[in-house]
Amino acid sequence: MKIDLNMNPKKQKFKGEFSRSLLPNSIKYYQSQGIRLNGTGAWRDAICPFHPDKKPSLRINVERGAYRCMSCGARGGDVLAFHMHLYSLSFVEACKALGAWRIDDGK
Ligand SMILES: [Zn+2]
Repeated sequence: MKIDLNMNPKKQKFKGEFSRSLLPNSIKYYQSQGIRLNGTGAWRDAICPFHPDKKPSLRINVERGAYRCMSCGARGGDVLAFHMHLYSLSFVEACKALGAWRIDDGK
């Protein structure tokens, strides 16, 4: 009988590693998620997807990808954190979804 490693998080060995340099550009990423960025400069305003938002409560730093909602308190340091948060993904799942997971095949 085969043992599914995914069933046991403690024994789970991930192949590959996160590569920050592969993360998408913050502005392009947020736009791809349908987030409209208002304003200019490093910090932009946007409608928060984490609570029913009518006026833009979400502040997004387009240089780092960081986000912070002034209304519901959602926050994170980069687009990876945002992606994990929005889709309830694990760190590795979000890395892969954003193309920032570099596979190391051990050779
Ligand atoms: Zn919010």
